[in-house]
Amino acid sequence: MPYADGEASDQSHYVAMYRGDLENKEAPGNKWHKLRYHLLAAKAQKVSTIATFGGPFSNHLHAFAATLESLPLNGVAVVRGELQPSLTPTLRDMVDKGIELWPSSRADYRLGDAAEIVAQINRLYGQVYWVPEGGGGVLGAQGCRDWAASIQAHCPDFDAWVVSSGTGTTAAGFLSHIDLSHSNLSHGNAPDLHVFSALKGEPRQRDEIVAIARAVSSGEERNLSDRLFFYSDCHEGGYAKLNATVRRFLCDFARMNPAIPLDPIYTSKAMFTVSQLISAGHWPYKRTLFIHTGGMQGWRGYAKHFNPFF
Ligand SMILES: *Cc1c(COP(=O)(O)O)cnc(C)c1O
Repeated sequence: MPYADGEASDQSHYVAMYRGDLENKEAPGNKWHKLRYHLLAAKAQKVSTIATFGGPFSNHLHAFAATLESLPLNGVAVVRGELQPSLTPTLRDMVDKGIELWPSSRADYRLGDAAEIVAQINRLYGQVYWVPEGGGGVLGAQGCRDWAASIQAHCPDFDAWVVSSGTGTTAAGFLSHIDLSHSNLSHGNAPDLHVFSALKGEPRQRDEIVAIARAVSSGEERNLSDRLFFYSDCHEGGYAKLNATVRRFLCDFARMNPAIPLDPIYTSKAMFTVSQLISAGHWPYKRTLFIHTGGMQGWRGYAKHFNPFF
């Protein structure tokens, strides 16, 4: 079971970590869970080709390639940004696993489903199932809801869960599960959900998380919002940026917790922010479960000396 006790930060705060990064060796973390229902939908639609979008270091693209390797589907990835003279390690892994890469200009990429490159791929392959960027949407959240159920079965009795967010899909799946388990007294008290966004300037994402969670909960009327705490201001300089303060924190964290590596984009910022809240006395919880969402392959986009877990 990928579950390890973390350090107790002080006498009154016990913080444990669910090691999602140790699940599913080829596609660790949340991305496999986000893809699951999309793959089932693609199968049900009997398409021959499944396609998605992502950046050249994307954890989503990496998991997409790893998950497709064993399936009889043609995999296509639209990669943000023009083709570079050499592929990133992430893209190289994808090519090794048989995924076709289509480089896209940033301007066209931004159009999403309406991009010219999407039309080209549809024309070429006919029936194509498109997974949204990051594996999002209601189907992505459904997979994360199942994941939350399995996490809670392994790790009951926490009064707060911590998870990082990009699209907010994982958080939405978690929220819909927590709400459900709260309404079922046999599961005891459900935890509060604290969501730390890696994006800059997306405070409205809180509403999206609630909306997706509601869609996953199939319209049952509940006040989903009560248990959700959303932090839009913990990007520390921007998405994928690692400033000196965070790097110093990561060095300290790595020294004190040598068996617990954090990823550079998501879990590092969430852990940094939670630690600050605890130190500042702004964390009223006694038993916190930090869910590690994976993403370690993302370190390959940084200079080696930035990575204290290497
Ligand atoms: C993608 C990712 C997230 C964010 O997940 P969302 O469902 O997009 O919010 C968090 N942590 C890691 C390591 C990721 O790769």
